[in-house]
Amino acid sequence: MEYTEEILVERATNTKIHDVDFSNLAFGKIFSDHMFVCDYEGGKWQQPKIVPYQPFSLEPAAKIFHYGQSIFEGMKAYRDADGSVFLFRPMDNCKRMNISAKRLAMPEIPEDYFMNGLKELLKIEKDWIPTAEGSALYIRPFMFATGHGFHASPADTYKFVIAFAPSGPYFTGKVNVLIEEKYSRAANGGVGYAKAGGNYAGQFYPTHLAKERGYHQVIWTDDTTHEYIEEAGAMNIFVRINDTLLTVPTSERILDGVTRKSILKIAEDEGIAVEVRKIKVAELIEAAENGSLMELFGAGTAAVVSQISAFGYKGKDYKLPELKDTFGARLKKRITDIQTNKIEDPFGWRV
Ligand code: PMP
Repeated sequence: MEYTEEILVERATNTKIHDVDFSNLAFGKIFSDHMFVCDYEGGKWQQPKIVPYQPFSLEPAAKIFHYGQSIFEGMKAYRDADGSVFLFRPMDNCKRMNISAKRLAMPEIPEDYFMNGLKELLKIEKDWIPTAEGSALYIRPFMFATGHGFHASPADTYKFVIAFAPSGPYFTGKVNVLIEEKYSRAANGGVGYAKAGGNYAGQFYPTHLAKERGYHQVIWTDDTTHEYIEEAGAMNIFVRINDTLLTVPTSERILDGVTRKSILKIAEDEGIAVEVRKIKVAELIEAAENGSLMELFGAGTAAVVSQISAFGYKGKDYKLPELKDTFGARLKKRITDIQTNKIEDPFGWRV
């Protein structure tokens, strides 16, 4: 055992790194040797630790199992040709984690625990950061209720963890999506703006139904009218009509994505006309029919930009044009070049 920056470190006796084919990584399927853990007990965060990646032991009555107090974040670390390691806007993830914590009646994690834990774990797991094009070390900070009892009330103990998964590209190829008319991922007054585990569980069934109909993903619409588009699966949505790039404003139903706001900034910087406003499904259909709908894409940490090739709505399918130069590809390149330290970062996002 050793202490680093007030973190107790217990090293794994063996490394699994030699079993990993870094040139052929799936997304989020294998995990590095260590994880960061910190328990919340007696109203306080306890000694932070870095320990070997291993299962947890929990009471059957742990509140995570019954009442779903579970939140997470998703971010990435990159390594450049010189071996330097970079994070992208990590404080934004830390702040969003605490926004989620507050909404789920969970304790907030002090920013220095989050940031120091992440940085110290990265120092130990540096060799796990893939360098192949499109690959990165996916970082999953999460917190859940360990406190137990069959009483529907917040737990008194929690565990905060950071685990790493060296990952390849999230989606391969273009996706065909279904605009959802019945189900919703979020409602006013709900938890849509939080990265709560239950939000994703609630998406699985409608997404499964869409898959049965031959679509890869669902475009979520607003819960009251289903007339406005909101998100693309677990990504924020962008639309290009003629040469204007549009996205919808964040709200209590929409996650404030780090990629979304970075893309908006880069697009503005590149002189692309940008509009942030509500977008009606009817407007999409009209644009698809009159030929002004150029692109539709999702934006998020995992895939960065996920180009949509076609969408279905009310039993009809609409194809997007096959463009040579897309805003999506151009913005994805600039953001990943910044993330991987290939170009200057005029925005100060790289850490
Ligand atoms: N919306 C939802 C529902 C998400 O889960 C994510 C992924 N975190 C995003 C949008 C994109 O957010 P970010 O760019 O911060 O990854």
